[in-house]
Amino acid sequence: MDLTFIGTGAGNHIGSRRQPCSAFVEGILLDCGAGTTGRLQDAGLFDRVDGVLITHLHTDHVAGLLDFLLHTVIAKRNRPLTILTPPGLSPILAALNTVNAFAVNPARMYELRLVEQNLPQATIGSWTIQSVPLDHSVYNLGYLLTSDGARIFYTGDTREPSAAHNIRADFVIHESTYADRYADRAREFGHSTASQAARAAAQMQARRLFLTHLGSLPDTDSEVLREVRAGFPDSEVVEDRRRYVL
Ligand SMILES: [Zn+2]
Ligand SMILES: [Zn+2]
Repeated sequence: MDLTFIGTGAGNHIGSRRQPCSAFVEGILLDCGAGTTGRLQDAGLFDRVDGVLITHLHTDHVAGLLDFLLHTVIAKRNRPLTILTPPGLSPILAALNTVNAFAVNPARMYELRLVEQNLPQATIGSWTIQSVPLDHSVYNLGYLLTSDGARIFYTGDTREPSAAHNIRADFVIHESTYADRYADRAREFGHSTASQAARAAAQMQARRLFLTHLGSLPDTDSEVLREVRAGFPDSEVVEDRRRYVL
């Protein structure tokens, strides 16, 4: 199966080298930061999205959803779309529909299934999707996706140690906003460092670890790569638009 990283930056991204957070795996979009729709179109993936998993409502994870929904209207989408989200998204969508922000309410064009709960779960295509709350500065969900025996876990934003340790997954997509020397800052803002992500992946008995949500501090990428591989050798520090075959 293919895993494509759309945006790999944190909320403090600079420029377009690392756009805000989003990834795509076999019909499922993991978060939807600004700029996601254009990147999906470039990669030929826009028409392949069946589900969107929102980890939390910080704008670097959800701002692109508005543009995505607009484009489902423009493209005259006619098949269901399922969105899993913690509480808080529906009032935003309702307010936008009040001012006719999408020209047509997407829910009038196709079956828009909004699973907005503290612990949303769903079956989308061949995926069984469960969620678990992870420690962050706001309520954040990690998502476990299971299909044909393969298990992928995506953290969204989390401060370690988090409940991710209790999960078992083959492939882990973990945030690493900071290199280890910024551990105090990571704790303060509810994020993880490279070594913390490596420890989490080891405890999850992962085969491979992908680090995303990289911060913009100087030398973050090189430090994070060195530190994560010291703790978990089968690690990648991902880049925007990179595609992996799992
Ligand atoms: Zn974030
Ligand atoms: Zn966040």
